Amino acid sequence: MFLDRLKNFKSYKTETTPCRVKLSSNENPYELPEWLKERISEEVKKIPFNRYPDPTSKELKEVIADFYGVKPENIVLGNGSDELIHLLITVVGEINKPVMYPVPTFPMYQVSADILGRPKIEFPLDSNFQLSKKEIDKAIEKNPQLAFFASPNNPTGNTFDKNLIKYTAENNIFTAVDEAYIDFSDKENFLIEALSSDRIVVLRTMSKIGLAGIRLGVLIAREDIAMEIDKARPPFNITYPTQVIGKVVLTEGREEIKKQIEKIISERKRVMNELEKIEKIKVYPSDANFFLIKVPDGDKVHKLLIQEGVLVRNMSHLPMMENCLRVSIGKPEENDFFLNAVKKVIKEI
Ligand code: PMP
Repeated sequence: MFLDRLKNFKSYKTETTPCRVKLSSNENPYELPEWLKERISEEVKKIPFNRYPDPTSKELKEVIADFYGVKPENIVLGNGSDELIHLLITVVGEINKPVMYPVPTFPMYQVSADILGRPKIEFPLDSNFQLSKKEIDKAIEKNPQLAFFASPNNPTGNTFDKNLIKYTAENNIFTAVDEAYIDFSDKENFLIEALSSDRIVVLRTMSKIGLAGIRLGVLIAREDIAMEIDKARPPFNITYPTQVIGKVVLTEGREEIKKQIEKIISERKRVMNELEKIEKIKVYPSDANFFLIKVPDGDKVHKLLIQEGVLVRNMSHLPMMENCLRVSIGKPEENDFFLNAVKKVIKEI
């Protein structure tokens, strides 16, 4: 009875079938190098595990501020950016006023809005997966107070028109630009706007650049905005290990992260070029560490790829995503394994 509200609720699901090559979760395929793990171990050993962590994550925030070229006061930290999305939907505007976002996109905007019982305005991207001003205008008419734009977008991989995101903010809507994949893009980001506007914030995450396991998301905003949002954050959401590991990796491991990102970007180019040679596959442009393809039969190709030992994300059942699969970039040998598998499978279709 007390939980009736959740009866028809669908929680966030990931693909879990064990496979030799996992290209389904947009992770960084590279592990941290051994020397960096050693350094982490040394620091983790010093943690007083019986004590609560610093609720303000002061030292970690200083390191992250330096990493992004902002001030610690511009930052709110979350247990992954998932938590920050939930926090924004909880605190921005009135809870009975809608949150708007384009579809298809990252499902957590919908999941969090549903958990919190907040109305949603889902508006479609156009056939190139771009924002349409007409659809944004229609959404704005319904008086939303909060908007999410994942740019580059998941699962489509493309970056949205900056002016249309700004246009939403100009229409008095608090606008969160989710830049989870910006490290793989050469397009302009929203940092300058976030630091100067009272209604634009940026979301970043350490998950895509090699630290998905420690759960560390970052919200960047003007100081006064960050300070208000931070009031509603659970006090010890950033664990002691996360604070310590984050500090070590983002200081001593910075060069390593940069190298890994460069390798992923160059592999993205190579793999997409290879796939473009296959007649039956449509490859969509990508600014992220994954890309989307359209195949003749999404369910079948997905299943056959699993039989070949490759797990990708089947998007076929989402609106506008018929027969689409999302493929994360792996290590070169994993990408070769995927390319061989996909060539074989496509021949069988
Ligand atoms: N935003 C987007 C667009 C994402 O794709 C993801 C992860 N799939 C997230 C946020 C959440 O990232 P985190 O691991 O920091 O919770």
